[in-house]
Amino acid sequence: MLVLEEHPEIGKPPHCAGILHSTKLKKARINIPGDVVLAKVNAISLYHNTDHVMDIPTAAFYIIDRVAFDKRLAKEAERAGAELALLSQAVKVARTSDGLVVSVKQRGGTRDVTGKIVVGANGFSGYFSRQLGLRAPNDFIVCFQYEARVEGEVPKSIVAIVGRKLAPGGYGWVLPIGDDKVRVGVGVYRVSEPAKHYATKVLEAFFSKYKILEEMGRPLPLTGPVIPFYTDNYVAVGDAAGFVNPASGAGIIAACLSGRAAAEVISSALEEGNYTKEFLSRVESLLREQLIKPYLDLLKVRHDFQSFDDRVLGEAARMIKEELLFAKRSKLKILMKGAKLALKKPKLAKFAYHLLKLRDVISM
Ligand SMILES: Cc1cc2nc3c(=O)[nH]c(=O)nc-3n(C[C@H](O)[C@H](O)[C@H](O)COP(=O)(O)OP(=O)(O)OC[C@H]3O[C@@H](n4cnc5c(N)ncnc54)[C@H](O)[C@@H]3O)c2cc1C
Repeated sequence: MLVLEEHPEIGKPPHCAGILHSTKLKKARINIPGDVVLAKVNAISLYHNTDHVMDIPTAAFYIIDRVAFDKRLAKEAERAGAELALLSQAVKVARTSDGLVVSVKQRGGTRDVTGKIVVGANGFSGYFSRQLGLRAPNDFIVCFQYEARVEGEVPKSIVAIVGRKLAPGGYGWVLPIGDDKVRVGVGVYRVSEPAKHYATKVLEAFFSKYKILEEMGRPLPLTGPVIPFYTDNYVAVGDAAGFVNPASGAGIIAACLSGRAAAEVISSALEEGNYTKEFLSRVESLLREQLIKPYLDLLKVRHDFQSFDDRVLGEAARMIKEELLFAKRSKLKILMKGAKLALKKPKLAKFAYHLLKLRDVISM
């Protein structure tokens, strides 16, 4: 197996906040080595723009060093027999009578590599899928993130921000990654200003003094799984197949799960000498209950959310703050509040209903 990476170093440049939910990791049987964990938090602090709404206690979230994590995965792949080719950019994939041929741009020029099966793990653009006549993700949230050293208090939880002033059509975040270091970012949808403009607003709203250490930005597919993500001799995984949680933007666990499912099926395909799309469609079957169905459901939550203007979001925030402090109320009171909300704000009630129904998959 040959792994092509266009950059000189695995994991760099990083494009990730590195948030992973401990329960989801356990469920997905993914082990996170302790030394890649930068911080562990047990709560989400929800903000509507700069107004604090509530703190939600949660099972642990890890905030990881994504570069170190990717390097670890690459080492595991090498130990399992993969050959890693850095500074090797796959520029084209085409069909031959015997499989696929990938044109690879390297220092010395371009060479062709043939393979029985090609895995499109090239991230959000998904252009290999397109070159082979499949659909690829076509709806994106644009993300931008700073890593910064800050003066003042670093939050002890994940700060999650909604509201059109700071994160139109999406969300913002502030994460602790050290005593005086944070990641601050946004994902915004269909806006005229660049995402960096909003990330700067968040940084300035939360910290009066800071020094920017690193910045990164790129689109994140929010189309949901693009089916079919396989054809004869080819399977796409991770972002390239749209395996990103459409509600939270999380994609690390989904990339690992889809990669693992593809590896299982490809290993059988190689044993049986069967590289047809019918055989490779087993990847879809393996992922249907765990990823595909929940993510397609979560698209509804995202569409509801994006239809709210700041007034509606502000009202929801106020209601949560003043009325629906669930933990402190009886089930009957919550039901009564829910019924009142459904009468007054049917759109919000539908959103809350979807959110509650899908709460177990939301952070995966
Ligand atoms: C700002 C931001 C914050 C995020 N935060 C989180 C988070 O906190 N938690 C979470 O779970 N998810 C998060 N995500 C999403 C997550 O980063 C992605 O879903 C995940 O990285 C997808 O993995 P992947 O392997 O499919 O693609 P990628 O991580 O994009 O990897 C693709 C790799 O392919 C290489 N490549 C691309 N094209 C070629 C080519 N032609 N030839 C050779 N190599 C190529 C790239 O260099 C890269 O190394 C975030 C995304 C962004 C943008």
